[in-house]
Amino acid sequence: MKLLKISFFITIISMFLNNCKQKETSTVSGPVTALDIKNHIAVLANDSLTGRMPFTEGENKTINYIAGQFKQLGLEPGNHGSYFQEVPMVQVTSFPSNITVSGKASFTFKPTDDFSASTQQELDSVQLNNSPLVFAGYGIVAPEYNWNDYKNLDVKGKTVIVLVNDPGFKSGNSKLFKGDTMTYYGRWTYKYEEAARQGAAGVLVIHQTEPASYPFTVVNGNGHAKLYLQQADKHLSRCKVEGWLSESAATKILSAAGISGDIRAIARKADFKAVDLKQTISLTLHNKLKYSTSHNVIAVLKGSTTPDECILYSAHWDHLGIGKADAKGDSIYNGAIDNADGVASVLGVAKAFAGLSSNIKRSVVFLMVTAEEQGLLGSEYYATHPIYPVNKTVANLNMDALGSYGETNDFAITGKGQNDLDDYVEKWVKPLGKKVTGDKNPGAGSYYRSDHFNFAKVGIPALDINNGQESTLHGAVWGKKQQDDYTANNYHQPSDNFTEAMNTDGMAQVANLLFNIGHELANSTVFPGWKKGSEFKAIREKSLAK
Ligand SMILES: [Zn+2]
Repeated sequence: MKLLKISFFITIISMFLNNCKQKETSTVSGPVTALDIKNHIAVLANDSLTGRMPFTEGENKTINYIAGQFKQLGLEPGNHGSYFQEVPMVQVTSFPSNITVSGKASFTFKPTDDFSASTQQELDSVQLNNSPLVFAGYGIVAPEYNWNDYKNLDVKGKTVIVLVNDPGFKSGNSKLFKGDTMTYYGRWTYKYEEAARQGAAGVLVIHQTEPASYPFTVVNGNGHAKLYLQQADKHLSRCKVEGWLSESAATKILSAAGISGDIRAIARKADFKAVDLKQTISLTLHNKLKYSTSHNVIAVLKGSTTPDECILYSAHWDHLGIGKADAKGDSIYNGAIDNADGVASVLGVAKAFAGLSSNIKRSVVFLMVTAEEQGLLGSEYYATHPIYPVNKTVANLNMDALGSYGETNDFAITGKGQNDLDDYVEKWVKPLGKKVTGDKNPGAGSYYRSDHFNFAKVGIPALDINNGQESTLHGAVWGKKQQDDYTANNYHQPSDNFTEAMNTDGMAQVANLLFNIGHELANSTVFPGWKKGSEFKAIREKSLAK
């Protein structure tokens, strides 16, 4: 029954594609066409896919469409005869009690007003019961920066309070970590991971708007369902409680221990030592658990000389499903730009490789991952359950939410300066008379916020790139306005829709650039590396030595 439905669906789509022939734009050089990309977006962002939410009928339609395209291109299934990789997940919804802090003074803090707390532990409830509180500065252990906030500190069973971002941010010292550019040590996800490695029972990040780059309302996750990958240990190696304290709640706790003033400056000092706050915290979380399986979609074009080495293209297929309706009554989050256009562009690249007249030396893998919007989970699953060995994966080339405002004279590398793939971009872009730029807002840590990051985390040099702001036809002011309009009015809104007027030339431009880079690497023996100072360099070197 299911199969029948799917083949019917695919027939409809091919009919649609055939009726959709339009004049092909000739402004983009390279084998990937803007028209192909446009046609794929029209399908992927159609209401019938109901916003491409994992675990829904929308998932079935989406992954079968992608697999059908791979098959049509003659690409082999990427997972031992299958185009799919199962991704088992658990959904945890935590409902916190009030927090009570006891010591010289005592405080009661309310969920949402004062804090946000959740757990990854797959238990009906978790509890901090008079757990001693420790202020552990930035909560960072970074040998390459000679930094260790946990030095000579035993936090087993205790709850650590830590600062967001890293010591370099707004320090005025560009040599301290990466100055205003956030390293991975600055992300809250890192703070949680490190606290767990140290054996802490709880970890609470102090929310400050500027170093976090978003307001406290954004971190409020109380009672919100959160998805995680299923783990054999049911996440019992994680802290019992992970969360955020509002700045005012944190100030009360720290003041009671005699710490006041600029806490970022205090914790930045070379002789800073973690402080036992002589207070304890109590908090209970009641949890609802739900288990489900979603899917990554994967295909491979085998290399002729060194097929065990591969170039890995990626894009996330999922989006937000059906949710709150907007003013126009639209409740389907179609995510035409985020990230139907990335999937469409990888499909375009896949077609370009499939159409090559000569063999490539290394293999090329096309991976469309699930649950990016839920915390980069599909890519995390692949990176931790790789089908092609991590130390033979030469590079990851990722596309997420490419611009729909046409060709640009510049390309923006997310987290520019991380690895040698930047040099490949320069090399291919320069002869076109175009420019390469970095993040608009490097302090926001964008490099750690899309799927490429999970590949970086296991050491694979990863590149995420997008169109810049300087529109070829309309200039930089207009280009910036298009970007700002998207962020303000369409990003994660039901209005992120496909329209016939959508300009896919810029997407084709990025796709062709990444095709050229991937093609060059596929016929090379070089392994691009991480640049000096990158937090991923040591991980790669260790993995290559195996
Ligand atoms: Zn998104």
